[in-house]
Amino acid sequence: MIDIHCHILPGVDDGAKNLSDSIAMAKQAISEGIDIIIATPHHKNGTYINRKIDILNKVKELNEAFKTEGLNLTVLPGQENRIFGEIIEDYDQGDILTLTGHSTYLFIEFPSGHVPRYAKQLLYDIQLKGLHPIIVHPERNAQLIENPDLLYEFVKNGAATQITAASLTGYFGKKIKRYTEQIIESNLTHFIASDAHNTTTRAFKMNEALDILEQKYGVDSVYYFTENAELLAEGNHIFREVPEPIKTKKFFGLF
Ligand code: FE
Repeated sequence: MIDIHCHILPGVDDGAKNLSDSIAMAKQAISEGIDIIIATPHHKNGTYINRKIDILNKVKELNEAFKTEGLNLTVLPGQENRIFGEIIEDYDQGDILTLTGHSTYLFIEFPSGHVPRYAKQLLYDIQLKGLHPIIVHPERNAQLIENPDLLYEFVKNGAATQITAASLTGYFGKKIKRYTEQIIESNLTHFIASDAHNTTTRAFKMNEALDILEQKYGVDSVYYFTENAELLAEGNHIFREVPEPIKTKKFFGLF
């Protein structure tokens, strides 16, 4: 299984602090059946800066360390980009990394509290560049929770999204769990990933999430998500279902 979002690179952000943390995370990932992880350190989120060249070097080092440890886990490079106005300029400058470094898929993170007004235009401009934006964990964004139509609009206009395994398992609370389910039910997401930061408070939870997917939506749903991660890693087009608006129950608004 491939995990496309993980903070396993040591000492670069709020994920693994050092190599022994990375090794502990690798062991947990392997125990869940993960054999490929895309390392996606935070970039320009106000606290951390991780440029393409540094990530490529650190991923190489980590793969060598895992090999020495006899761990059967391959790390591929990636980057979790906080949305910012000059991201395309920075991409042209060579600071921005797509997932795996070879795909056309680019992680885009919104601030947790809101969606910037320029997001729609920027997501469009990214696609004009021949890149495919993936909005990470939309289920945890306050404005998208308030206004699901905005998420629908982004997906309808070509953005992909990635939900977090722990959101589906209920770690972030009932409201986020329910919104995650609605996002799945309305075909507004394309990937499920761990976004693991450690082995305790922000662990992988991929198996638990896939079990929930299978129980609630059937085995096809599990295939859809696991195969999309493989298609991305292989540089192929992903499966996309026709997105639908989320039906919110507004009983009192009808009369
Ligand atoms: Fe993340």
